[in-house]
Amino acid sequence: MPAVDVVLFLGVLPLALSAQDPAPFPPPRMEPPIVTPGKTSADPPSDALILFDGKSLAKWRSGDGSAAKWQVRDGYMEVAPGTGDIQTADPFGDCQLHIEWATPSVVKGEGQERGNSGVFLMGHYEIQVLDSYNNKTYFHGQAGSVYKQYAPLVNASRAPGQWQSYDIIFRAPRFDEQGKAIERARVTVLHNGVLIQNNVAIFGNTYHDRPAVYTVHAPLEPLRLQDHGNPVRFRNIWIRRL
Ligand code: MG
Repeated sequence: MPAVDVVLFLGVLPLALSAQDPAPFPPPRMEPPIVTPGKTSADPPSDALILFDGKSLAKWRSGDGSAAKWQVRDGYMEVAPGTGDIQTADPFGDCQLHIEWATPSVVKGEGQERGNSGVFLMGHYEIQVLDSYNNKTYFHGQAGSVYKQYAPLVNASRAPGQWQSYDIIFRAPRFDEQGKAIERARVTVLHNGVLIQNNVAIFGNTYHDRPAVYTVHAPLEPLRLQDHGNPVRFRNIWIRRL
């Protein structure tokens, strides 16, 4: 029996090896730049831009370009309902974004009316912010959804009032000269460290009342946070350009 085993083994080996031949690609020429990581993975690394440090809305504007009107206190900003969305003064495209948020600890409303806000990548593509802790709504509208396009893979929500995080890796869409989207935007999202969107291809602007469609925009656009009428809080916002 051992002799037969050896013969079989030798017979299969050349095939297995040829399937693993190295592909003819060149080795990388650039040494990866050094980035000093933060103290924890929630802290900004050395090449991050700090968008909100808990003290000032200097990096944010209202939609009309005037000063952002949300409240800042005790290290966080809070939606001042009725003052409108706010957006970054600087525009961004491909990026890694860290953002922390908390829905009101006093639970009010149901479904989409409970702790609703949103992180609009490039001002067009919403990652939903919602109190989805014991709060039913349509699946592609709960916390961590790509709004009305993709439900999160799991519901990793913490209780209302608790701080939660999104870590978002985003690739902007590419448009041709005629303004046609030739490459869809893609996004990966971790909610409280749990993967909830795995490199999904976004279908276009995340409208609430009509089908998603791409509308041509600049390669870099401001990041926008939504005023949906609920006093949702944000803190520790940083971004890395990719
Ligand atoms: Mg929203």
